[in-house]
Amino acid sequence: MARYTDAVCRLCRRDGVKLFLKGTKCFTDKCPLEQRNFPPGQHGKARKPKIVGYGLQLREKQKAKRIYFTQEGQFRNYFESAARSKGVTGEILLQQLERRLDNVVYRLGFGISRRQARQLVRHGHVQVNGRRVNIPSYSVSVGEEIEVRENSRKSPMLETAKDFASHQPLVTWLSVDRDNYKGKVLSLPKREDIQLPVNEQLIVELYSK
Ligand code: SF4
Repeated sequence: MARYTDAVCRLCRRDGVKLFLKGTKCFTDKCPLEQRNFPPGQHGKARKPKIVGYGLQLREKQKAKRIYFTQEGQFRNYFESAARSKGVTGEILLQQLERRLDNVVYRLGFGISRRQARQLVRHGHVQVNGRRVNIPSYSVSVGEEIEVRENSRKSPMLETAKDFASHQPLVTWLSVDRDNYKGKVLSLPKREDIQLPVNEQLIVELYSK
């Protein structure tokens, strides 16, 4: 399936919830959801969808998939891997998504959105334990050090991200040295560390049919 390239704010409006896909704009009154909290499209305002059962499960999966910018096949692989692991499948699924390198770069505040963080990784600006890693789905482990490469630190984009991140709380499973664009994985994320508008149990139910 092709990657989604249309306006991402439409995705939030479709789900009726902020998915925080645009960085700073999401925290201002320019957020389209603040002004037009109804589904996009000509009849969006007139439609009053009552979503139950399968539709609800599907929406939850779509939300998680969109928040982490994963594609359907990749998302399913995450689920299958979580289902094979010991523990609560839904929680492991979210933990795996949270461990993605692009998400960690975002959580460390080196990008204002996951999309921007993904671009940083793809363009080779990020190192893990001193080695360049340009795979956004790379899964970080405890003790690994993530940093923006020295030659890439002059970018104004990083300055903006640093300023933005200084007003955001840092997750407890990471430590960060913002001045040197370095961070470390202290532990694996637990469910309570992942504050997202997603009911992972409904995703498990969807894939377990
Ligand atoms: Fe969603 Fe952010 Fe766009 Fe608001 S600004 S609709 S939260 S992506």
